[in-house]
Amino acid sequence: MNAMFDPVADRIAALKDRLEAFMAEHVYPNERALLSERQEGVARWEPSPLLEELKGRARGEGLWNLFYNHGPEGQGLSNYEYTHLCELLGRSLAAPEVFNCNAPDVGNMEILAQYGTDEQKRCWLAPLLAGEIRSCFAMTEPAVASSDATNIETEIRRDGDDYVVTGRKWWITGAMSSRCKVAIVMGKSDPSAARHKQQSMILVPMDTPGVKVERPLSVYGYEHPPLGHAEIVFDGARVPAANMLLGEGRGFEIAQGRLGPGRIHHCMRFIGLGERAIETMCRRATDRKAFGSTLAEMGGVRQAIGQSRCEIEQARLVTLKAAWTMDRAGAKAARNEIAVAKIVVPTLVGAIIDRAIQVHGGAGLSQDVFLAEAFAETRFLRIGDGPDEVHREALARAELARHA
Ligand SMILES: Cc1cc2nc3c(=O)[nH]c(=O)nc-3n(C[C@H](O)[C@H](O)[C@H](O)COP(=O)(O)OP(=O)(O)OC[C@H]3O[C@@H](n4cnc5c(N)ncnc54)[C@H](O)[C@@H]3O)c2cc1C
Repeated sequence: MNAMFDPVADRIAALKDRLEAFMAEHVYPNERALLSERQEGVARWEPSPLLEELKGRARGEGLWNLFYNHGPEGQGLSNYEYTHLCELLGRSLAAPEVFNCNAPDVGNMEILAQYGTDEQKRCWLAPLLAGEIRSCFAMTEPAVASSDATNIETEIRRDGDDYVVTGRKWWITGAMSSRCKVAIVMGKSDPSAARHKQQSMILVPMDTPGVKVERPLSVYGYEHPPLGHAEIVFDGARVPAANMLLGEGRGFEIAQGRLGPGRIHHCMRFIGLGERAIETMCRRATDRKAFGSTLAEMGGVRQAIGQSRCEIEQARLVTLKAAWTMDRAGAKAARNEIAVAKIVVPTLVGAIIDRAIQVHGGAGLSQDVFLAEAFAETRFLRIGDGPDEVHREALARAELARHA
């Protein structure tokens, strides 16, 4: 973005420069090591010394908790401002955790900051903000269509001064990590209440008896260590009543607050991935020759590059609009803009990365180039945080109501 026309970008220009320099000096040179080391055995769920070293550096340089604007632990940026920085750190799949800006911890920190009691914040938010522990968010269940969260069956039953949690969850990002110390679990506390008041969210420490992490799940074969995605069983896990978040029956209210910023952060990161895919595609096309000319001289490749520029600009604009609307009116009022970005960005950036893979030939599908894993990441988001169809349906409802 041109700072001349954007006073907001001006305000974060220094931070952006420092982040860019950090990425160049520490992240890109270590990217392969961060993404592929410890791919075997249980050790892959341990934090690598390299990751911890880079986290320490980022923190020391004030490039820490860039997303966080609920207190002095963050940088106090608006969503619109953070978009510019998140795009930069999104260029590498290895970067978000280096700056303590990774999913799902970011969303969980938002929940704790907004809805946690002082004690819940002391126990869980403080170590998360310090990057000392990791967390997970457990909503999806294998047995029910979880895109409709009213289907969720996990039971949260009051028993004296405790709640007892029973159910099976899967696709729980972060839960494979040996550092994952707490789950925010969504379940039903009162199946007889109104449809959107039956659900609650509760904090369940991962070392609670009855919590069992059963297996890792992979996305096109990528297990995403050291955080991973897990299938987990809660078999009568008993926690104090004080672990309830916000209050019984308020799970949906919390889910809305969490998923707004969370969805947008994925989109911001994907713009960075898309920009990097275009750069990589151009370099490869310029360097590589076939049938007497460089790939960059071929019409089909030039069309692919031109189309990709059109699409990344569209992706950026819908994301900035959603962030800007959230800053002005809150996540609830910005839900349509967030839904648009959540649908548009992974689809467009996925298409850009797919073209970049094609231009790379076999190398594009290999582990030597970041593109294949990046594609898998964009593909996941067409389902994760609610499938695109559900968001299109909500948009249609709003649109039809507007024109009724
Ligand atoms: C890599 C990854 C990470 C994830 N991380 C987490 C996590 O940390 N925590 C967590 O709780 N969950 C997580 N999820 C789960 C994710 O949020 C769910 O998979 C998603 O919400 C869809 O639920 P489902 O899989 O049960 O699909 P279902 O609900 O069974 O839906 C299947 C399909 O039905 C179609 N469909 C559904 N509704 C409609 C509609 N209204 N109109 C038209 N078609 C429709 C869509 O095509 C949809 O994809 C993750 C998933 C992945 C892949």
